[in-house]
Amino acid sequence: MKVSVLKETAPGERRVALVPESIGKLTAAGLNVLVESGAGDGAWMTDDSYAEAGASVVSRSEAMAADVLLMVGKPDEATVSAMRGGQVVIGLFAPLADPAIAERLARADVTAISLDMIPRTLPRAQPMDALSSQANIAGYKAAIIAAAEFGRFFPLLITAAGTARPAKVLVLGTGVAGLQAIGTARRLGAVVSAYDVRPETKTEAESVGATFIELTSVGSASGEGGYARALTEEERQAQQDELAGHIARHDVVITTAQVPGRRPPLLVTEDALKAMAAGSVLIDMGASELGGNVAGSQPGDTVVTENGVTIVGASGLPSSMPAASSAMYARNISTLLLYLVKDGELAFDPQDELQTGVIVTRDGAVVHPALAPRDPGAAANPAARADSGDPPAPADRAAADNSAADTADQDAADNSSAGSGEGSASAIPGAAS
Ligand code: NAD
Repeated sequence: MKVSVLKETAPGERRVALVPESIGKLTAAGLNVLVESGAGDGAWMTDDSYAEAGASVVSRSEAMAADVLLMVGKPDEATVSAMRGGQVVIGLFAPLADPAIAERLARADVTAISLDMIPRTLPRAQPMDALSSQANIAGYKAAIIAAAEFGRFFPLLITAAGTARPAKVLVLGTGVAGLQAIGTARRLGAVVSAYDVRPETKTEAESVGATFIELTSVGSASGEGGYARALTEEERQAQQDELAGHIARHDVVITTAQVPGRRPPLLVTEDALKAMAAGSVLIDMGASELGGNVAGSQPGDTVVTENGVTIVGASGLPSSMPAASSAMYARNISTLLLYLVKDGELAFDPQDELQTGVIVTRDGAVVHPALAPRDPGAAANPAARADSGDPPAPADRAAADNSAADTADQDAADNSSAGSGEGSASAIPGAAS
């Protein structure tokens, strides 16, 4: 079976799906590994290093002809058009945020496996958890950028020229990225506080060196599956108001708050920004085109407010550390690939919740329970629905509109054996050569 690594096409993407160190395990399992020439350039991994590791370095068209295509991000339109029916493609497709990509891959009749859909709480899924590996890198880099942007020291410094007090850093959102940001800022010598709307994160934040802030105006917003639920309008307002006082007392604020399948919650309002001292720095890891955790943040850009507060819209942080992020991602994707391979071929077991959790499209349809259309007529003909111009109507979006079921999409991902169909293990069409 031929497995190929494609060169990423998204602007600014420097990661690569496999690194030379990851090739040996795959070839030992009987896989024929192809790497598109130049695929590793952005991460300083040369064609020669892949060839020395046992891969064949090939052209784009040869790579596109393999049975399994490995990627980091989403395929662009040209890449999807160049796919052939029956191929398997594995990457981070974020179909909950962008259901249209799932529709496109279904129309291309490929089996699309999205690593970000992995049921993260399954112990066997942990080495495949690319969301965590990339969030770890992002949290680390956010703290490093904060230290670089801040016009003072992070650590306490006592010198003949005077004493510098340590920076006061506040981390909002203490999931994987937030905990790494706390640990990194602490290692740089800052005094770190943290807040999360899930109170159970208190002990984790404290264990990496933060003082946990508990708000009196907002209770727990723990959703299911370890994620936060979206707040009601009243809770949101109360949270923003109470947080503003804490934010004003800090030099640096790093925000990482996310709610699955939703736009990031706004935690730092314009009024809160106005109350910050000149020279303060915010790193908004939630920055997106839809808005982020910080009012006025621009994804991929740095803005300075009239009162001298720097806001870094920190999107794409894993790609800014391409060697580390590619190495970790390669471990994630190759572990998943080897998990799916039986006797040199990919085999699909519909009883395995890990597999049904990651398979988004198959046999020309969107099959993931969190995305599959609720209307059985539409399910039978996804292409017709997409061509009609109707917005995709995944079950999880409808559920997400119901505030009682805010984490429905991740719940569905975590419980995805439901609705996966019956039967015993079957080969994924076209996966074997
Ligand atoms: P995430 O990226 O979805 O969110 C980041 C943080 O933002 C979360 O801690 C969330 O509670 C917080 N948040 C959301 N809305 C907020 C608000 N309004 N105010 C303040 N904070 C807010 O989270 P993640 O890093 O992907 O982790 C989510 C959970 O998954 C965590 O509990 C983590 O421990 C868990 N997890 C478990 C495993 C495992 O079991 N193996 C693996 C990875 C992650």
